Amino acid sequence: MDVVILIKQVPEIALIKVDETANEVVLPQGPGTVNPFDEFAVEEGLRLKEKHGGKCIVMSVGTDRTESALRNCLALGVDEAYLLSDEAFNGSDPQATGKILTAGLKKLATYDLVLAGKQAIDSDSAQVPGAVAAGLDIPQAMFVKKIESVADSKAVVYRTTEDGFDVVELNLPAVISVVKEINEPRLPSLKGKMAAKKKQITKWSASDLGLDGNEIGANSGTKTTKVAPPPPRPKGEIIEGDTPEEVADKLFSKLRDNQVI
Ligand SMILES: Cc1cc2nc3c(=O)[nH]c(=O)nc-3n(C[C@H](O)[C@H](O)[C@H](O)COP(=O)(O)OP(=O)(O)OC[C@H]3O[C@@H](n4cnc5c(N)ncnc54)[C@H](O)[C@@H]3O)c2cc1C
Repeated sequence: MDVVILIKQVPEIALIKVDETANEVVLPQGPGTVNPFDEFAVEEGLRLKEKHGGKCIVMSVGTDRTESALRNCLALGVDEAYLLSDEAFNGSDPQATGKILTAGLKKLATYDLVLAGKQAIDSDSAQVPGAVAAGLDIPQAMFVKKIESVADSKAVVYRTTEDGFDVVELNLPAVISVVKEINEPRLPSLKGKMAAKKKQITKWSASDLGLDGNEIGANSGTKTTKVAPPPPRPKGEIIEGDTPEEVADKLFSKLRDNQVI
């Protein structure tokens, strides 16, 4: 069973700044890290490989800096890494990113399951896995907290909902995005880290993928018209009183006056 995991390299969130004058988000220049939700997807892919055999592959749309994120996955026991990278990809919105990954998966051709994180912590759109499933025209289940079984070209998964979960059966190949409840990711061993340094990362450009720039990069459908930092939080209010009952009464009155209760 061959599993492809879509991973995104994300910057360290605490270091992100907003430049309102230039209308852009200024990302830190450090090596970044694997999107935390994708670590759960990698762990699940490795567990499926350990149980069913086959290969575990990671794929990312990024730049040369993304290599470090891919090597972190190789250090965990992933077999192959693919970096989809080209100047023409700069400015791609989530749908365009989905289109690039779709082209990468089509070129790869053999996979039984595509795993992804539920969302990227820097852009939070949670669109890419669905866009990939649509592009490949295969089934999808998003926000999965358990893969119950994988057998006979079918997977049974627990999909998180607002009220609980649905049990869903999918024909394979399929795209599944995972939430953090699904597992506890392992840490890389020193041996794994050393081996990862020597492993090859396959790079595919726009022309390797047969992408002509239409609807990707600067030609994406989404245009960012304004960027602004979140408004500062309003000051909190401390409710004073001689007894807990008095404080509770004052709080109750305030909540009622403001029609909260
Ligand atoms: C107009 C516009 C221009 C942009 N320009 C740029 C740019 O120049 N450079 C840039 O880096 N970003 C750019 N972005 C942001 C970028 O498009 C998104 O970060 C990216 O498309 C993924 O969307 P997301 O982060 O919301 O992922 P989500 O949909 O929240 O991610 C869910 C899951 O999909 C998978 N996934 C997401 N992104 C990738 C990826 N790149 N590779 C592999 N798997 C992935 C992961 O498994 C992830 O957990 C731009 C966005 C917009 C709207």
